[in-house]
Amino acid sequence: MYVIKPFDPWRSKLCTCPPKYSFNPYTGCQHNCLYCYSTYIPNFRNLRLKKDLFRKIVRDLEKLPKYALISMSNSSDPYPIVEKKYRITRKCLEIFKEYDIRLLIVTKGDTVVRDVDLMSEMNSAVSITITCDDKTAKILESNAPTTEKRIDVIKVIKDAGIPTVLRLDPIMPFINEDALWLIEKCEPDHVVSSTLKLRWDSFKRMVSAFPHLKTKYEELYLEGEKVQNYFYLPKDYRIRLLSKVKEKCEELGISYAFCRENIEFKAKSCDGSHLIC
Ligand code: SF4
Repeated sequence: MYVIKPFDPWRSKLCTCPPKYSFNPYTGCQHNCLYCYSTYIPNFRNLRLKKDLFRKIVRDLEKLPKYALISMSNSSDPYPIVEKKYRITRKCLEIFKEYDIRLLIVTKGDTVVRDVDLMSEMNSAVSITITCDDKTAKILESNAPTTEKRIDVIKVIKDAGIPTVLRLDPIMPFINEDALWLIEKCEPDHVVSSTLKLRWDSFKRMVSAFPHLKTKYEELYLEGEKVQNYFYLPKDYRIRLLSKVKEKCEELGISYAFCRENIEFKAKSCDGSHLIC
């Protein structure tokens, strides 16, 4: 396989995702999220185009089983700022449409609404990541569309009859613990949430942007659990944060799941892929 690969999140023992494939139309990402889990990829902030991409996709698709699930994207964003100009993701969708794949789009990019025409003709669902209010997002996700724009994206996609997932992820201690209002505002079909996990590079970025949290983050993360290369919050802290998501979703009758937390949830899938026909 050239560009569509079996999804394997660092062989995490805590991953509950169904079998699926992972595809990133771009290498790197422009959204500049401080907490990004993909910055282990060299030169990640410098977005690159993939050579001979469309021919490689077709060759990979020929090898996939019928109705394979593809998640786009897990380690970049399929709708970076340049997508408006390059239309690479759109061209990928046009190719996917020719095959009987099931597509889960995961993005923060508002250009996704441009492609609703294609998605509505496919077996697809769209997962939009929103984490906080606009003011905080300017610090945390400085190049991503505003919170308001992303909320509007969910509305447009819902109106087109395409299933929606709100990715309320990550929840960061003392920063966006109160972001539950987003669930009520977006009313998605499903919510995926998880608490912030840190590596040394993201730890440094976070405490540099929020210096008043440095001591608290040192105490919470360095004394928490370590899973592979990630610092986790202590489990009781994670349960407390995610219980609030659970309660809000139960109150609104929305299914919910947690990502790589080892905390129980009842939804048919964690990533929302159960919403795709
Ligand atoms: S949108 Fe995703 S991949 Fe891009 S910088 Fe933010 S967290 Fe990283």
